[in-house]
Amino acid sequence: MVHQAQDFVGKLLGRPPRTIRGLQNNVVWREGVQVMRVDLHSHTEVSHDCRTAIRDIPGWMLRTNTRVLAVTDHDQFRGGPELQRIVADLGLDDRLSVICGEEVTTSEGELIGLFLKEQIPRGLSPEDTVREIRAQGGLVMLQHGFDPLKRYRLKPEATARIAADIDIVETFNSRLSRHHWNRVAEAWAQERDLPMSAGSDAHTLRDIGEAWVETPFRLVRTPDELIAALREGAVAGHWTHPVYAYGRKQWRVLNSQFRRD
Ligand SMILES: [Zn+2]
Repeated sequence: MVHQAQDFVGKLLGRPPRTIRGLQNNVVWREGVQVMRVDLHSHTEVSHDCRTAIRDIPGWMLRTNTRVLAVTDHDQFRGGPELQRIVADLGLDDRLSVICGEEVTTSEGELIGLFLKEQIPRGLSPEDTVREIRAQGGLVMLQHGFDPLKRYRLKPEATARIAADIDIVETFNSRLSRHHWNRVAEAWAQERDLPMSAGSDAHTLRDIGEAWVETPFRLVRTPDELIAALREGAVAGHWTHPVYAYGRKQWRVLNSQFRRD
């Protein structure tokens, strides 16, 4: 019902349908190969604008076959290591991979660092942010880089300056103002032969895994393993109109408060 309403509103607004390409089952086998989903952009309770309890994430990852998740809280680092610890305590680290990341606010918009070891301060120039990520052995990912309505996207001039340092381009973000901007990101990545990724940009538990790269199952512990998984994968996801996503988030927050009381 909710999805029908969303499709209806989407049509009214001239947006593409909600599902760009979807999978039916939680664990999907393609030609005898077990595949998994990789989501490289998500938020937890560590972010100021998100309440997703970290302890709830491993169960949701299993349920949605999101076997690789990058935690990319706004200017915060501790969510990733905390999730890693919980996954290990549950004995799930042979099934789930957690990448410690951060969505860093630079002086000219946001950039994501993956495989970080410590927090990167906000407010550095894009160049210095890239240097910090590299110094930690991490990967630089350009997320929602081409949507002019994304207030915090990396400015086009900055994107041009650091283009050679970008390792991964997010070509599917579930929260763009129009799916068209994902296509622009895709073309930009293809021109440079850069690996493409998907990010749910989830700010609620149930949005985690809404955008994904489908790829053969493997554990992802290193940047090289991630790049290999992305290169073998296909990008897909559910695109949600941001106004609808915001309303849904508020609704869920409200509901969870009622349940707690
Ligand atoms: Zn984000």
